[in-house]
Amino acid sequence: MAKYTGPACRQCRREGEKLFLKGSRCLSQKCALERRPNPPGVHKNTRKKASEYSTQLREKQKTKRFYGLCEKQFKGYFDKASKMRGMAGENMLVLLERRLDNVVFRMGLASSRAQARQIVNHGLITVNGQRVDIPSFLVKKGDVVAVKENKTDKKVFAEIKDGTAKYATAAWLNFDAEKLTATVVELPTRADVGEHIEEHLIVELYSK
Ligand code: SF4
Repeated sequence: MAKYTGPACRQCRREGEKLFLKGSRCLSQKCALERRPNPPGVHKNTRKKASEYSTQLREKQKTKRFYGLCEKQFKGYFDKASKMRGMAGENMLVLLERRLDNVVFRMGLASSRAQARQIVNHGLITVNGQRVDIPSFLVKKGDVVAVKENKTDKKVFAEIKDGTAKYATAAWLNFDAEKLTATVVELPTRADVGEHIEEHLIVELYSK
């Protein structure tokens, strides 16, 4: 599946907004968007007045980039959300929040979703005691997501264990920082999506 392999910061400059793709660097003076807020490429000094289509397109691209997905995967979530009861846009965001890589990120085990995905891919995570290395795995209410018992001493988790981690845990997860486990106490709702996303623009784009 096609995957974006270019510089992460370029994506933020393209969207003109911080997407927080590089963990602690995003909160520092080194953030590329702080230093070069103009878009990348040859027309980098112009931000034209956006058309309705381009506003919708940019919102979709931004959301896709937040969650680190390619177009096919992202559209798949929209199609699934459209078949569910309720508002398609909200359903889609809730599905995206339930992805295992996002849960690991929301637990505060990783500084970015990219790092969380790597943690999952490397087989460091279990769900209800079973190893799961699929980042797109969707958690359910009551699931217990944990770092594999013999992997809790990994350097990547050191800050959490010694209490100096900077990343907060989402309210819909009950996180035990000592055991590095979290129970999904409630499924996330639209209000739990911290990022600024106008999902109605994505629905309008895909409904054309
Ligand atoms: Fe985006 Fe983070 Fe790079 Fe800043 S440092 S441009 S927020 S990825």
